[in-house]
Amino acid sequence: MNVACDPRGRVWNYETCRSIAPLTLEINRLKREKDAVILAHSYVEPEIIYGVGDFTGDSYYLSVKARESRASVIVFAGVVFMAETAKILSPGATVVVPDRASGCSLADSISGADVRRLRVLHPGAPVVCYINSTAEVKAESDVCVTSGNVYDIVTSLPEPRVIFVPDRLMADNLRAELRRRGVKKDVLSSDGTCMVHDAFTPGQISQARSQFPGLKVVAHPECPADVASAADFVGSTGAMMKYVKETAAPYYLMLTECGLVGRLEVEAPEKRFIGGCRLCPYMKLNSLEKVRDALASPRPDQIVTLDEDLRLRASRCIERMFELVPKN
Ligand code: SF4
Repeated sequence: MNVACDPRGRVWNYETCRSIAPLTLEINRLKREKDAVILAHSYVEPEIIYGVGDFTGDSYYLSVKARESRASVIVFAGVVFMAETAKILSPGATVVVPDRASGCSLADSISGADVRRLRVLHPGAPVVCYINSTAEVKAESDVCVTSGNVYDIVTSLPEPRVIFVPDRLMADNLRAELRRRGVKKDVLSSDGTCMVHDAFTPGQISQARSQFPGLKVVAHPECPADVASAADFVGSTGAMMKYVKETAAPYYLMLTECGLVGRLEVEAPEKRFIGGCRLCPYMKLNSLEKVRDALASPRPDQIVTLDEDLRLRASRCIERMFELVPKN
């Protein structure tokens, strides 16, 4: 199998798999010994997802798995804000991260103090935070949302004005969708962006369409609004995968992180993808070696700890999302 978006350019054949087997076997043994579970985000490298991961998906799916988990140890192969969410929802577990430097341009764009300032500037407007935010920001917010449920949850809020943090581009896409639905609501936003999705342009789409007739363009709502409006489909990571699997097209252009394309190449091998995706440098800080070390004997910087008052406030914000999310 050739996962074209493998960040190290490897071909996933028998030899490659054999070369990582000593590490994957060691990690899987350690998991049993430590009563651990590994949550792997779709954007980390394939040897983590397919070699040792117990659950793979986007930050919402993995937060549900963290909430359901009864494991003593959760290894979060993703980025730090996601591991914080796991700790918020599964406080009894020891939550570890392979690399403490795995930040996020979006989550790190705003602090809890910034949210408090926004509240003072816009009294009465509830703060809606995207799940891609730190525990500190969640603790200052009223309700958390994901790229899949943001439209329904914001629509359901009674207030005429909301503060949406931290993604400026998703806020633009949210305004457009609310207009399309005929929902009258002011959406104020902060100024963060995802460095991966912010880099796509409408020019890339028009060039690709001229080269590949019948192409379907699939975008994440963290992309700029002019990119989203030029795409054939815009949705969360899970919705993007479903769309590709269920749609017939000769080619797809995925405007998201390369790891998702790697997953689709494995799980929908009959589909053809043209170049365009981008790597998240933070996600690529994860490696099998770091997962093994975090599991075997975590250093203090690999263990996620949260002040209990902050954790409880952040937990209320996330639980409100679970209450408001449409059941189907
Ligand atoms: S892909 Fe974007 S939102 Fe996700 S971790 Fe990387 S920088 Fe953050």
